[in-house]
Amino acid sequence: MTITVTRDNTAVVIIGAGVAGLTLGNFLLRNGIGCIVLEKRPRAYVEKRQRAGTIDTFGVRLFREWGLEEVLAGNPIPYSAGGFYIDGHAMPIDVDDDNESLYCPQQVLVRNLTEVFLREGGDLRCESADVNPENITGGRPAVRYREADGTERAIDCDFIAGCDGFHGVSRRSIPATALTEYSHEYGYSWLSVLAAAPTNPSGMAIHGLGLAGIIPRGPETSRIYLQCAIDDTPEKWPCERIWSELEARFGTPPARGEILSKQIVPLRSVVFDPMSYGRLYLLGDAAHIVPPMSAKGIHLALHDTEVFARAVIRYAKEGDSSLLDSYSETCLPHIWNYQAFASWITDTMHNAGYTGFEGEFKKQIARAELQRQFASESAKKLFSELTAGTN
Ligand SMILES: Cc1cc2nc3c(=O)[nH]c(=O)nc-3n(C[C@H](O)[C@H](O)[C@H](O)COP(=O)(O)OP(=O)(O)OC[C@H]3O[C@@H](n4cnc5c(N)ncnc54)[C@H](O)[C@@H]3O)c2cc1C
Repeated sequence: MTITVTRDNTAVVIIGAGVAGLTLGNFLLRNGIGCIVLEKRPRAYVEKRQRAGTIDTFGVRLFREWGLEEVLAGNPIPYSAGGFYIDGHAMPIDVDDDNESLYCPQQVLVRNLTEVFLREGGDLRCESADVNPENITGGRPAVRYREADGTERAIDCDFIAGCDGFHGVSRRSIPATALTEYSHEYGYSWLSVLAAAPTNPSGMAIHGLGLAGIIPRGPETSRIYLQCAIDDTPEKWPCERIWSELEARFGTPPARGEILSKQIVPLRSVVFDPMSYGRLYLLGDAAHIVPPMSAKGIHLALHDTEVFARAVIRYAKEGDSSLLDSYSETCLPHIWNYQAFASWITDTMHNAGYTGFEGEFKKQIARAELQRQFASESAKKLFSELTAGTN
């Protein structure tokens, strides 16, 4: 039996409608460059997926510069007092005047990016199954996929942007021998909890029992983090244990509410080098993971996106492929710089006194490190972005 394949044609096929894919789609669209976004999930699912909550100064300025400031609107998270705590005592943070970072839950950003993309005539195809990049090293690659009604489609294009996250298909389409994976496992996990509870207290707490975090995700919703053993399971964390550990680690009783979800997230750093192969380019989590303590996953996804968008625009307008050729070399030093910060802040915050991990000595080191960092202008800026809205 012959399967009929309907063929389309565009400049860039973007795989994945997350932060990187939708931002790229918007950047290209407003520069007159054709693109089609393929997303495997339904739109409603993507727009409700709760992850990050902060857009740093770089991200805020990036959207403004590209005329997309409206995608940061509709932020339902109120101001809440907080910051860093050590052994139940709050450490005040001196906020940098230049800090423009803001709370914007990832699902709000994604929903806004989708609305603007569709309003401007963008082509977003959700529920695309079995997405498969083909002929990546040939002159003109294609992406094949199946629509929800079973129709087989292929899109011929100049370039493929792999924006489909760490578990997507794009990176797996590259021969393993063509990529070097650099990775580091930190040796512990986070119990990541979503709770229907106001954020009080708010911030990150260093304690002998391990790190704890309570970060707002909405007026009555909080993301809760509890450092735990690498082999812990959600079943080992009944509701009462979550609340009592938060109280112990923050030194004050937290506002309680219904636990909506809980999962174990092992902390790790990963970078793939190079970030392109033939005409396939990897952006965001498809190319690298930073531990969530750094809150820099969105930053890196947006940075890759801007570098790639500028390279495609230069190629389309001037026929100059030099920025595409140097995409990986441009992104990687920036990524390693942020991996260094992520690794340092993760070690500092987690090794501090957790009896199951390092020891009480490290807590004093963490205190000294945080105090020393607050004294430096550049570090103060990083810290105030990291804790934006919590102080
Ligand atoms: C619990 C949690 C908390 C986090 N907290 C923060 C934080 O506070 N700050 C921060 O900066 N970062 C945080 N991150 C990281 C941040 O969410 C990611 O770095 C960011 O989502 C990366 O964006 P992306 O567009 O590269 O990938 P994603 O947002 O993962 O988007 C990838 C898209 O591709 C789609 N897709 C996957 N496979 C396919 C396929 N085969 N075909 C088509 N589509 C596909 C997916 O459905 C998804 O829509 C957190 C992550 C998690 C999991």
